[in-house]
Amino acid sequence: MNSSSTAKTVLFWFSIIFLGLMLYKLYSPDSSRSGKDEISYNEFMAKVDAGEIKNVTMYLSQSSYDLWGQDAHSPNRGFHVTLFKEAAPSVTEHLREKGVQVTVKEVRSADWMLLLVNGMPLLLLVGFCLFLLQRMKGGSWRTAQAGSSKTQTGIGYDLHRLEEGRPLIVGGIELPFDRGPVGHSDGDVLAHALCDALLGAAGLGDIGTHFPDTDPQWKGANSLLFLEHAKKLLTDKNFTIEHVDAVVITEKPKLGPHFPKMREALAKALGVSSDKIHLKAKTNEGVDAIGRGEAIAAHVVATLSSR
Ligand code: MG
Repeated sequence: MNSSSTAKTVLFWFSIIFLGLMLYKLYSPDSSRSGKDEISYNEFMAKVDAGEIKNVTMYLSQSSYDLWGQDAHSPNRGFHVTLFKEAAPSVTEHLREKGVQVTVKEVRSADWMLLLVNGMPLLLLVGFCLFLLQRMKGGSWRTAQAGSSKTQTGIGYDLHRLEEGRPLIVGGIELPFDRGPVGHSDGDVLAHALCDALLGAAGLGDIGTHFPDTDPQWKGANSLLFLEHAKKLLTDKNFTIEHVDAVVITEKPKLGPHFPKMREALAKALGVSSDKIHLKAKTNEGVDAIGRGEAIAAHVVATLSSR
Protein backbone atom coordinates (compact mmCIF):
# COMPACT_ATOMS: atom_id res chain seq x y z
CA MET A 1 0.00 0.00 0.00
CA ASN A 2 1.52 3.38 -1.00
CA SER A 3 1.43 6.53 1.14
CA SER A 4 -1.47 7.98 -0.83
CA SER A 5 -3.79 5.00 -0.28
CA THR A 6 -2.68 4.77 3.36
CA ALA A 7 -3.67 8.39 3.90
CA LYS A 8 -7.02 7.75 2.22
CA THR A 9 -7.64 4.74 4.44
CA VAL A 10 -6.76 6.73 7.57
CA LEU A 11 -9.07 9.56 6.51
CA PHE A 12 -11.85 7.07 5.78
CA TRP A 13 -11.66 5.56 9.27
CA PHE A 14 -11.26 9.05 10.74
CA SER A 15 -14.60 10.00 9.16
CA ILE A 16 -16.27 6.76 10.28
CA ILE A 17 -15.16 7.25 13.90
CA PHE A 18 -16.48 10.79 14.03
CA LEU A 19 -19.71 9.76 12.36
CA GLY A 20 -20.06 7.20 15.14
CA LEU A 21 -19.41 9.87 17.75
CA MET A 22 -22.05 12.07 16.15
CA LEU A 23 -24.59 9.24 16.34
CA TYR A 24 -23.58 8.64 19.95
CA LYS A 25 -24.19 12.30 20.64
CA LEU A 26 -27.65 12.12 19.05
CA TYR A 27 -28.85 8.95 20.74
CA SER A 28 -27.03 8.99 24.09
CA PRO A 29 -29.01 9.87 27.27
CA ASP A 30 -27.44 13.31 27.21
CA SER A 31 -29.22 13.95 23.95
CA SER A 32 -32.32 14.62 26.04
CA ARG A 33 -30.70 18.01 26.58
CA SER A 34 -31.58 19.05 23.07
CA GLY A 35 -34.96 19.71 21.51
CA LYS A 36 -36.72 20.65 24.72
CA ASP A 37 -38.84 23.65 25.63
CA GLU A 38 -37.13 26.67 27.12
CA ILE A 39 -39.30 27.97 29.97
CA SER A 40 -38.85 30.44 32.82
CA TYR A 41 -37.80 29.40 36.29
CA ASN A 42 -41.30 30.16 37.68
CA GLU A 43 -42.99 28.13 34.95
CA PHE A 44 -40.60 25.26 35.61
CA MET A 45 -41.26 25.26 39.34
CA ALA A 46 -45.02 25.57 38.70
CA LYS A 47 -44.86 22.39 36.63
CA VAL A 48 -42.94 20.69 39.43
CA ASP A 49 -45.56 21.79 41.98
CA ALA A 50 -48.32 20.56 39.65
CA GLY A 51 -46.67 17.14 39.47
CA GLU A 52 -46.03 17.47 35.72
CA ILE A 53 -42.32 16.80 36.15
CA LYS A 54 -41.10 13.66 37.90
CA ASN A 55 -37.49 13.45 36.75
CA VAL A 56 -34.91 16.20 36.64
CA THR A 57 -31.31 16.16 35.52
CA MET A 58 -29.07 18.94 36.81
CA TYR A 59 -25.99 19.66 34.71
CA LEU A 60 -23.26 21.42 36.65
CA SER A 61 -20.64 23.22 34.62
CA GLN A 62 -18.25 26.07 35.35
CA SER A 63 -20.38 28.53 33.40
CA SER A 64 -23.94 27.45 34.27
CA TYR A 65 -26.23 25.16 36.19
CA ASP A 66 -28.93 23.74 33.94
CA LEU A 67 -32.08 21.89 34.88
CA TRP A 68 -33.65 19.51 32.39
CA GLY A 69 -37.04 18.18 33.48
CA GLN A 70 -38.94 15.39 31.79
CA ASP A 71 -42.72 15.56 31.28
CA ALA A 72 -44.36 12.97 33.56
CA HIS A 73 -46.99 12.09 30.92
CA SER A 74 -44.87 12.39 27.79
CA PRO A 75 -41.34 11.00 28.22
CA ASN A 76 -40.23 12.50 24.89
CA ARG A 77 -41.07 16.02 26.02
CA GLY A 78 -38.99 18.07 28.41
CA PHE A 79 -38.29 21.47 29.80
CA HIS A 80 -35.12 23.43 30.35
CA VAL A 81 -34.22 26.25 32.69
CA THR A 82 -30.90 27.80 33.76
CA LEU A 83 -30.23 28.38 37.47
CA PHE A 84 -28.00 30.61 39.53
CA LYS A 85 -25.36 28.47 41.19
CA GLU A 86 -26.37 29.83 44.58
CA ALA A 87 -29.96 28.67 44.05
CA ALA A 88 -29.02 25.11 43.17
CA PRO A 89 -29.00 23.63 46.75
CA SER A 90 -32.40 25.06 47.75
CA VAL A 91 -33.96 24.13 44.39
CA THR A 92 -32.63 20.56 44.71
CA GLU A 93 -34.08 20.29 48.20
CA HIS A 94 -37.46 21.63 47.02
CA LEU A 95 -37.54 19.18 44.10
CA ARG A 96 -36.83 16.24 46.39
CA GLU A 97 -39.55 17.39 48.78
CA LYS A 98 -41.94 17.27 45.82
CA GLY A 99 -40.91 13.69 45.09
CA VAL A 100 -38.99 14.61 41.95
CA GLN A 101 -36.08 12.30 41.18
CA VAL A 102 -32.96 14.48 40.78
CA THR A 103 -29.90 13.27 38.88
CA VAL A 104 -26.79 15.43 39.09
CA LYS A 105 -24.23 15.36 36.29
CA GLU A 106 -20.99 17.26 36.14
CA VAL A 107 -19.94 18.69 32.82
CA ARG A 108 -16.18 19.00 32.82
CA SER A 109 -14.79 21.50 30.36
CA ALA A 110 -11.74 19.28 29.81
CA ASP A 111 -13.84 16.24 28.99
CA TRP A 112 -12.19 15.03 25.79
CA MET A 113 -15.37 13.37 24.58
CA LEU A 114 -17.23 16.64 24.93
CA LEU A 115 -14.52 18.52 23.11
CA LEU A 116 -14.45 15.97 20.31
CA VAL A 117 -18.20 15.85 19.93
CA ASN A 118 -18.56 19.64 19.93
CA GLY A 119 -15.67 20.06 17.50
CA MET A 120 -16.83 17.25 15.24
CA PRO A 121 -18.29 19.37 12.39
CA LEU A 122 -15.02 21.30 12.12
CA LEU A 123 -12.94 18.12 12.28
CA LEU A 124 -15.08 16.48 9.60
CA LEU A 125 -14.63 19.54 7.39
CA VAL A 126 -10.86 19.46 7.90
CA GLY A 127 -10.81 15.72 7.17
CA PHE A 128 -12.79 16.23 3.96
CA CYS A 129 -10.44 19.03 2.84
CA LEU A 130 -7.41 16.80 3.53
CA PHE A 131 -9.05 14.03 1.52
CA LEU A 132 -9.57 16.37 -1.43
CA LEU A 133 -5.98 17.62 -1.20
CA GLN A 134 -4.71 14.05 -1.15
CA ARG A 135 -6.70 13.23 -4.27
CA MET A 136 -5.40 16.32 -6.02
CA LYS A 137 -1.80 15.47 -5.11
CA GLY A 138 -2.32 11.89 -6.25
CA GLY A 139 -3.32 13.09 -9.68
CA SER A 140 -6.87 11.70 -9.53
CA TRP A 141 -8.22 15.23 -9.54
CA ARG A 142 -6.29 16.15 -12.65
CA THR A 143 -7.30 12.92 -14.34
CA ALA A 144 -10.92 13.62 -13.48
CA GLN A 145 -10.74 16.85 -15.42
CA ALA A 146 -11.26 15.32 -18.84
CA GLY A 147 -8.81 16.35 -21.51
CA SER A 148 -6.69 18.47 -19.20
CA SER A 149 -3.69 16.10 -19.09
CA LYS A 150 -1.99 13.93 -21.68
CA THR A 151 1.04 11.67 -21.99
CA GLN A 152 3.30 11.50 -25.05
CA THR A 153 6.18 9.20 -25.89
CA GLY A 154 9.15 9.66 -28.20
CA ILE A 155 11.89 7.39 -29.49
CA GLY A 156 15.47 8.32 -30.29
CA TYR A 157 18.35 6.46 -31.93
CA ASP A 158 21.95 7.39 -32.64
CA LEU A 159 25.14 5.69 -33.79
CA HIS A 160 28.69 6.99 -34.06
CA ARG A 161 31.78 5.44 -35.52
CA LEU A 162 34.62 4.93 -33.07
CA GLU A 163 38.19 5.95 -33.91
CA GLU A 164 41.39 5.64 -31.94
CA GLY A 165 42.70 8.59 -30.02
CA ARG A 166 39.35 10.34 -29.51
CA PRO A 167 37.67 10.82 -26.09
CA LEU A 168 34.74 8.50 -25.44
CA ILE A 169 31.86 10.60 -24.07
CA VAL A 170 28.67 8.75 -23.12
CA GLY A 171 25.87 10.31 -21.08
CA GLY A 172 27.94 13.42 -20.47
CA ILE A 173 30.78 11.42 -18.87
CA GLU A 174 34.22 10.79 -20.37
CA LEU A 175 35.11 7.10 -20.07
CA PRO A 176 38.67 5.70 -20.05
CA PHE A 177 39.02 4.02 -23.46
CA ASP A 178 41.40 4.08 -26.41
CA ARG A 179 38.72 4.94 -28.97
CA GLY A 180 36.02 7.58 -29.18
CA PRO A 181 33.16 8.68 -31.47
CA VAL A 182 33.59 10.61 -34.66
CA GLY A 183 31.15 13.50 -34.80
CA HIS A 184 30.59 17.22 -35.24
CA SER A 185 29.97 17.69 -31.52
CA ASP A 186 31.41 15.47 -28.77
CA GLY A 187 29.61 12.48 -30.35
CA ASP A 188 27.69 11.49 -27.21
CA VAL A 189 25.30 8.87 -28.65
CA LEU A 190 23.24 8.62 -25.47
CA ALA A 191 22.71 12.37 -25.18
CA HIS A 192 21.88 12.62 -28.90
CA ALA A 193 19.36 9.76 -28.83
CA LEU A 194 17.84 11.18 -25.64
CA CYS A 195 17.52 14.61 -27.23
CA ASP A 196 15.74 13.11 -30.25
CA ALA A 197 13.40 11.10 -27.99
CA LEU A 198 12.45 14.21 -26.00
CA LEU A 199 11.95 16.40 -29.08
CA GLY A 200 10.00 13.64 -30.80
CA ALA A 201 7.72 13.13 -27.79
CA ALA A 202 6.95 16.86 -27.77
CA GLY A 203 6.47 17.02 -31.55
CA LEU A 204 9.35 19.49 -31.84
CA GLY A 205 11.37 17.91 -34.61
CA ASP A 206 14.78 16.34 -34.06
CA ILE A 207 18.28 17.19 -32.96
CA GLY A 208 19.35 18.06 -36.50
CA THR A 209 16.59 20.70 -36.72
CA HIS A 210 17.80 22.56 -33.64
CA PHE A 211 21.55 21.83 -33.77
CA PRO A 212 22.56 21.32 -37.44
CA ASP A 213 25.97 19.70 -37.86
CA THR A 214 26.76 22.37 -40.45
CA ASP A 215 26.68 25.07 -37.75
CA PRO A 216 30.25 25.78 -36.53
CA GLN A 217 29.02 26.84 -33.09
CA TRP A 218 28.28 23.18 -32.29
CA LYS A 219 31.69 21.87 -33.37
CA GLY A 220 33.05 19.80 -30.48
CA ALA A 221 30.14 21.00 -28.30
CA ASN A 222 29.24 19.31 -25.05
CA SER A 223 26.04 17.46 -25.92
CA LEU A 224 24.55 18.16 -22.49
CA LEU A 225 23.97 21.68 -23.88
CA PHE A 226 21.59 20.11 -26.42
CA LEU A 227 19.67 18.49 -23.58
CA GLU A 228 19.49 21.75 -21.63
CA HIS A 229 18.12 23.50 -24.71
CA ALA A 230 15.62 20.68 -25.35
CA LYS A 231 14.44 20.98 -21.74
CA LYS A 232 13.76 24.70 -22.26
CA LEU A 233 11.73 23.92 -25.39
CA LEU A 234 9.72 21.32 -23.46
CA THR A 235 9.08 23.71 -20.59
CA ASP A 236 7.89 26.40 -23.02
CA LYS A 237 5.33 23.89 -24.29
CA ASN A 238 4.28 22.88 -20.73
CA PHE A 239 5.77 19.41 -21.02
CA THR A 240 7.10 17.54 -17.98
CA ILE A 241 9.63 14.72 -18.31
CA GLU A 242 8.11 11.67 -16.64
CA HIS A 243 10.52 8.89 -17.58
CA VAL A 244 13.51 8.08 -19.76
CA ASP A 245 14.55 4.54 -20.64
CA ALA A 246 17.74 3.96 -22.63
CA VAL A 247 19.91 1.18 -24.04
CA VAL A 248 23.53 1.86 -25.02
CA ILE A 249 25.11 -0.75 -27.28
CA THR A 250 28.88 -1.10 -27.37
CA GLU A 251 31.28 -4.02 -27.25
CA LYS A 252 33.72 -2.24 -24.92
CA PRO A 253 34.19 -0.72 -22.39
CA LYS A 254 31.75 -1.89 -19.69
CA LEU A 255 29.27 0.92 -19.11
CA GLY A 256 27.39 -0.32 -16.01
CA PRO A 257 29.88 1.02 -13.44
CA HIS A 258 29.55 4.51 -14.97
CA PHE A 259 25.75 4.62 -15.02
CA PRO A 260 25.32 6.44 -11.68
CA LYS A 261 27.46 9.36 -12.89
CA MET A 262 25.77 9.34 -16.31
CA ARG A 263 22.31 9.43 -14.75
CA GLU A 264 23.38 12.27 -12.51
CA ALA A 265 24.81 14.30 -15.42
CA LEU A 266 21.78 13.71 -17.67
CA ALA A 267 19.31 14.45 -14.87
CA LYS A 268 21.14 17.68 -14.04
CA ALA A 269 21.06 18.82 -17.67
CA LEU A 270 17.34 18.06 -17.85
CA GLY A 271 16.50 19.48 -14.43
CA VAL A 272 14.86 16.26 -13.24
CA SER A 273 15.49 13.71 -10.52
CA SER A 274 17.97 10.99 -11.54
CA ASP A 275 15.38 8.33 -10.69
CA LYS A 276 13.59 9.39 -13.90
CA ILE A 277 16.59 8.27 -15.97
CA HIS A 278 16.94 4.53 -16.51
CA LEU A 279 20.00 3.18 -18.35
CA LYS A 280 20.87 -0.26 -19.68
CA ALA A 281 23.96 -1.60 -21.49
CA LYS A 282 24.21 -4.24 -24.21
CA THR A 283 26.95 -5.69 -26.38
CA ASN A 284 26.33 -6.69 -29.97
CA GLU A 285 27.65 -10.22 -29.39
CA GLY A 286 30.62 -9.55 -31.71
CA VAL A 287 28.35 -9.04 -34.71
CA ASP A 288 28.48 -6.19 -37.22
CA ALA A 289 30.28 -2.88 -36.79
CA ILE A 290 29.32 -2.47 -33.13
CA GLY A 291 30.37 -6.04 -32.40
CA ARG A 292 33.77 -5.38 -34.00
CA GLY A 293 34.21 -2.30 -31.79
CA GLU A 294 33.91 0.08 -34.75
CA ALA A 295 30.80 1.90 -33.49
CA ILE A 296 28.63 2.73 -30.50
CA ALA A 297 24.84 3.18 -30.57
CA ALA A 298 21.97 4.12 -28.28
CA HIS A 299 18.18 3.73 -28.23
CA VAL A 300 16.07 5.92 -25.96
CA VAL A 301 12.36 6.12 -25.16
CA ALA A 302 11.16 9.25 -23.37
CA THR A 303 7.74 9.81 -21.80
CA LEU A 304 6.35 13.30 -21.28
CA SER A 305 3.19 14.62 -19.71
CA SER A 306 1.53 17.95 -20.34
CA ARG A 307 -1.30 19.99 -18.91
MG1 MG B 1 24.88 11.84 -32.98
